[in-house]
Amino acid sequence: MATKVQRQKSKKKNSHRDSYLIKNGHVITAVDSFKGDILVADGKIQLLGKHLEVIEPGAKVIDATGLYVLPGGVDPHVHMELPISGGQFSADDFETGTRAAIAGGTTSIIDFVTPEPGQPLLEALYERKEAAKKSLCDYGLHMSITSWNENIPEEMRQCVEQEGISSFKVYMAYKETIGLDDKYILAVMVEAAKYKARVMVHCEYDEIIAYLRKKFISGGKTEPKYHALSRPVGAEEDAVSRVVLMAATAGCPLYIVHLSTVRALFRVFQITPEELDAVVETCPQYLLLDRSEYERAGFEGAAYVMSPPLRTVADREFLWKALGDNRVQVVATDHCPFNMKGQKDRGSDDFTKIPGGAAGVQHRMALLYTYGVLEKKISLNQLVALTSTMPARVFGLYPRKGALVKGADADILLWDPRAEDIISAKTHLHHCDNSIYEGFRTRGKPHMVMINGKIAYEQGVVKCEKGSGHYLKR
Ligand SMILES: [Zn+2]
Repeated sequence: MATKVQRQKSKKKNSHRDSYLIKNGHVITAVDSFKGDILVADGKIQLLGKHLEVIEPGAKVIDATGLYVLPGGVDPHVHMELPISGGQFSADDFETGTRAAIAGGTTSIIDFVTPEPGQPLLEALYERKEAAKKSLCDYGLHMSITSWNENIPEEMRQCVEQEGISSFKVYMAYKETIGLDDKYILAVMVEAAKYKARVMVHCEYDEIIAYLRKKFISGGKTEPKYHALSRPVGAEEDAVSRVVLMAATAGCPLYIVHLSTVRALFRVFQITPEELDAVVETCPQYLLLDRSEYERAGFEGAAYVMSPPLRTVADREFLWKALGDNRVQVVATDHCPFNMKGQKDRGSDDFTKIPGGAAGVQHRMALLYTYGVLEKKISLNQLVALTSTMPARVFGLYPRKGALVKGADADILLWDPRAEDIISAKTHLHHCDNSIYEGFRTRGKPHMVMINGKIAYEQGVVKCEKGSGHYLKR
């Protein structure tokens, strides 16, 4: 233990001069694969090529023979320490959540500012930035618009032009708290369009859901499975249908978060790409799990309570096809864990009180590699595109992030394709007592992770310190 601390200290002292030559790896980008070397110094990629020799004095050579060399993962949809009612928060804070992310190969996250309805956007931003300072990896923030008033257009302009926030989020669901009526969503899109800022939308038809929730609870139908039954496929399908029309009308780039079903995906294509710049995201849970989880005994199904809910096996299989042919372009996690004990169990006799969300940020890359690449549903290049390059491009981080090119931040993942693992809440770094992937076998995991040119993870240990992440202006 003592030696480890000492080593970290001495490394920190010379950190600005850390220099590495990563040799003989199999370099994989979103479009390319080649055997080669990467020289890293001053936190950046200095050179890529074949048979590079050490030209930096003191550069350490890292032998990457037998490893894939990928750009670090970018997860553009996570909720660390998300406030919920009763003064509680989602179970991972920015420190524990980013530590888990790094261990899984993700080197940048984008979280959300969620102002209290009526709260000035910039005030909420400063509060959120304060919380996010604990991050171990670099982080950006999307701004949620949770209510509308005449100051919002000017505040949105400040977000884009002063604060480096080029994306806004709106919720069609949750109208009792943070959701917006369509006319205000359209207003947000009209403003965002002025700056070519992207609007992310949670697409679910709130009134239908509110009606069904009330109906089930008053009928004594309180178990977790009614969460899924109260959020039917049609509620997502209809919302997507309206939102693509709104975005096309406003001329605003659109990003549909956590799309879960084939019927909703078809609605995206009722508008042509010439009329609308739309990017579609799905999440590992919609690719690997299905609604049968809600039939689990007792209260166990509560772990899978999330919105939208898990869908059918057919939806799952179709979403894999849509990744394969690029109709879905980003895989993010919507990481938002809650403990079964003390959090999810608030809804033990009323599913509407179960906080929605699950952990996933640590396992996105390994799950997609195992169940996507190894099962030939996506290529290795697509893995990089879906988890790193596309999210970086879409949210204004490219080529600083999401790319292995000269001048990019040296966020580099050395991926060991032979390593094996079994996911479990007993061993994961997520700060929560359950995993929706409990018992899932994975192949491939990070051998080493570099962030901004420093070794952030090696031999199973996260080495960077709390607070070492930087805020990403986009
Ligand atoms: Zn979310």
